Amino acid sequence: MSMLSILEFPDPRLRTKAEPVRVFDAELKQFVADMFETMYAANGVGLAATQVNVHRRVLVADMSEERNQPLALVNAEIVAKEGAQVYQEGCLSFPGIYADVTRALKVKVKAQDVDGNPIEVEAEGPLAVCIQHELDHLAGKVFVDYLSPLKRTMLLKRMEKQRKQAASA
Ligand SMILES: [Zn+2]
Repeated sequence: MSMLSILEFPDPRLRTKAEPVRVFDAELKQFVADMFETMYAANGVGLAATQVNVHRRVLVADMSEERNQPLALVNAEIVAKEGAQVYQEGCLSFPGIYADVTRALKVKVKAQDVDGNPIEVEAEGPLAVCIQHELDHLAGKVFVDYLSPLKRTMLLKRMEKQRKQAASA
């Protein structure tokens, strides 16, 4: 296994739209294993392939506290949404910043597993947030796109400041 490097905003490659996965081979399984390793090492709850500069429709997530409920979704699409929730989101591509985003409360997702078998996932609450957030990445979208321009500018300035402090520390 190997760690992948995570693109950070405003890297323009985060705006790339991912292509569907058509080949379910050992390389895909290795890539998914590497994505999990990278996500766990970064203490993230979700990671989209876009964030590691691979533009294929693959996402991984694990919302459990014990970090033992890995979920890998290939070619996922939301087929139904219900309700609304506000949740404070963070993102491995935006180190150190968090913001409230409104999304659907429940989602029903059709996807494939790493072997290409069709799977269906019904998610609610934080897992539903995570899946919607990662699917946005695959469409070239990021969570700060939902914020007002003022709020977005404020957060990005804060991120820049933290980045400079980290670099000089
Ligand atoms: Zn993210």
